Amino acid sequence: MDFSLTEEQQLLVDTFRRFADKELKPVADEYRDRLIPRELALRLQSEMLPFGVGAGVVAEELGGLGLDTFTVGLLQFELARVSPDIAVTALIQMIVGKLLPYVPDHLRDDYAKAVLSAEKLGCVGMSEPGAGSQVTAVACRARESGDDFIISGEKLWISSGGYSDFIFLLARFNDDPVGGLGLILVDREHGYKTVEIGKMGLNSQSTAQVIFEDIRVPKTNLMVAPGEAMKTLFVSLAGSRPIVALMALGVAQAALDEATKYSVDRHQFGKPIAGHQLISAMLGEMATKLEAGKLLSFKALDAIDRGYRSDVDAAMCKWYSTDVACEIVASAMQIHGGNGITQEFPIEYMYRAVRPFMVTEGTNEIQKLSIGRALTGIDAFGGS
Ligand SMILES: Cc1cc2nc3c(=O)[nH]c(=O)nc-3n(C[C@H](O)[C@H](O)[C@H](O)COP(=O)(O)OP(=O)(O)OC[C@H]3O[C@@H](n4cnc5c(N)ncnc54)[C@H](O)[C@@H]3O)c2cc1C
Repeated sequence: MDFSLTEEQQLLVDTFRRFADKELKPVADEYRDRLIPRELALRLQSEMLPFGVGAGVVAEELGGLGLDTFTVGLLQFELARVSPDIAVTALIQMIVGKLLPYVPDHLRDDYAKAVLSAEKLGCVGMSEPGAGSQVTAVACRARESGDDFIISGEKLWISSGGYSDFIFLLARFNDDPVGGLGLILVDREHGYKTVEIGKMGLNSQSTAQVIFEDIRVPKTNLMVAPGEAMKTLFVSLAGSRPIVALMALGVAQAALDEATKYSVDRHQFGKPIAGHQLISAMLGEMATKLEAGKLLSFKALDAIDRGYRSDVDAAMCKWYSTDVACEIVASAMQIHGGNGITQEFPIEYMYRAVRPFMVTEGTNEIQKLSIGRALTGIDAFGGS
């Protein structure tokens, strides 16, 4: 396996890194813990489009750049290093972009155009109050009524939900646990409502509850018929777990950079604290874990780009990288001593922002259970 970057990839990543430091970091600092207004969120997404961030994965047939997932992963790492919040919004545009081929023919060009110009933001609604790790418990209903479906129910934890102009909604069309689930495009104009959720971190991007109170949606908005939705989502979203892994590692990289600088500048007992063995070893461990997480994530993305989809690779990099990212940021906080927990230094924010990645895109326990199932052939999820 060779993960060295091509000249073109290196140039793209370097140029984007400079853009992120110069243009995005000031916005991230200004809006720390405050929701970035929708208009500004749209502008940021549109400014990142030329780099391939967000909609860069949209297929060339639909007017996109058709970027490979490895390159997208590198870009999301750089973005999360500066702002995990803005990176989450870009991730959701990426996921929406991956699902555009399933938008019905008569709507596809309009939605593709809107996503590719960042005139609209979408979101993907799977989780509900009663359906988290167990996606098959989805209760949000789509009932037939003439030429429409009537949608009723609630989605929870929906990234970009409050910003969204439309949602790709996983809904229940009949009572078959898996066979009853289909995917439908619901536009904000159809009447769904959103309520922001306050979180420990990532509060400058939207995470929302999305409410459907008997809203009418034309049957022609059906994207994936009942029975095929789960498979479609798993295949289309195969790259998002390794990319989430790299986003958490992007935060860890920023924390390691801060801790390295601090350990050289801060003097105690007559020398820089980096000269004390325990601090030096801590930095060594942080850098090693970061590298191991990156390699696992690169391996998973490389396999996807070569046409193999390994759920085990994706699960391994997701749990490992997000776990070690939290450990690295915690170590960076320790190296900062008292300063680590103050808002004068960026570490306390990183500590809060990195933690949700252990839950999103499937909790780390669920990732480990998938690996265990692949090893033994025995399902330990506990379902019937
Ligand atoms: C920041 C953020 C953004 C998100 N964005 C989106 C989004 O855009 N769209 C969307 O649809 N969802 C989104 N989610 C939801 C996310 O996918 C769920 O939170 C996740 O799947 C876990 O579901 P839950 O929170 O209901 O936890 P639960 O499933 O209730 O799990 C609670 C605990 O029990 C453990 N657990 C559950 N089942 C088992 C089992 N069988 N064996 C062992 N342990 C188990 C879990 O690992 C966890 O520790 C987001 C979540 C977060 C935090």
